[in-house]
Amino acid sequence: MKHISFSLLDKTHSSEILDELYDILYGNMSVIAPTGSSYEEDKQSWLPCIVSALENPQRKILLIYGEAGLAGFFMFSLKNRTFLMEEIQFKPEYQGVGLFGRLYRYLFGMISTDTDFVEAYAHKKNSKSQRILTYLGLQCIGENKSGTNLHFRGSYQELKEKILLNHCYCGHSCAKCVTYLATKNNDIALQEQARKFYKEAFGLDVSTDKLSCAGGRSDRVFELCRDCPFKKCCKERSIEACSECPNYPCPDLADYQAKYVNQSNQI
Ligand code: SF4
Ligand code: SF4
Repeated sequence: MKHISFSLLDKTHSSEILDELYDILYGNMSVIAPTGSSYEEDKQSWLPCIVSALENPQRKILLIYGEAGLAGFFMFSLKNRTFLMEEIQFKPEYQGVGLFGRLYRYLFGMISTDTDFVEAYAHKKNSKSQRILTYLGLQCIGENKSGTNLHFRGSYQELKEKILLNHCYCGHSCAKCVTYLATKNNDIALQEQARKFYKEAFGLDVSTDKLSCAGGRSDRVFELCRDCPFKKCCKERSIEACSECPNYPCPDLADYQAKYVNQSNQI
C-alpha cells in the first residue's frame, strides 16, 4: 500500500465530504450490522447525528486517502487525557492491507504524551470490532445509553506499545516473537525455544542472557535485530515501515518476508 496520505477534515468544508463518508460507513455496516432500513432512511438518521457531533471542537475526523481517492476515515476525540476512538471505516479494498498500523503510527504523533486512557464503542453485532478492541488490551466496561453498543476502555500506553509491536519495519509482528515473549514473561521454556531457533535457522549460539528484546521499535532490541537493514533503510528514507516505501517490496525484503516474516520464531 504505497500512496497513502492523511489529512484532518477542515470542518468548514465538512458538508462537501459527508456523502462520501456515509457511503463508506453504510457499505461496511450494511454487511456487519444491517439496520433493516434503506440506504436513504439510515442516511437521514446518520446525517444530523454527525453534523451535531462535528460541532464539538474536540472531535476530529482524519481522512485517509489512497491512490484512487478517499480510502476511509477515522473519527476520534481527545478529552480528559482520554483518546476516544469513535469510528474507523475503510473501504473494502483497503481492508487487510496494513493500513491500520500506518494510520495509528500517524495518529500517535498527534496525540499528547500525557494521554492515559483509550476508549471505544463497538456495535453489539460487530464481533470483529469487539475482538480487535479486546486484543488491543481494552476491556468492556458497559454499554451506551441506547444499549446498541458495548463500551470499552484501556490504557493508551498499552495500546500504543501493542500496535507498534505488531508492526515492525519489515512487517513482522514482534508481539508474537518467541524472543520477545520469553523476555516479557521471563519464561525459561520460551528462552530455550528461541535459542534453538537461532541455532537451527542460522547456526548461531546465543547465550540465554542475551535473549532479551522489548520489540524492534523499542530501545532494547535483541542483538540480531539491532542492525536490521530494513529498519536502517526506512530511517534513511524517513518512513516508518517498508510498506510505506515506493519500492515495496524491494527484492531483499521480498526474499526476507518469504522466508521469515511472521512465519518463524513466532507463537
Ligand atoms: S527479536 Fe526481533 S523480531 Fe523478535 S521482538 Fe525483538 S526485534 Fe522483534
Ligand atoms: S527499499 Fe526495501 S528495505 Fe528499503 S524501505 Fe523500501 S522496501 Fe524497505
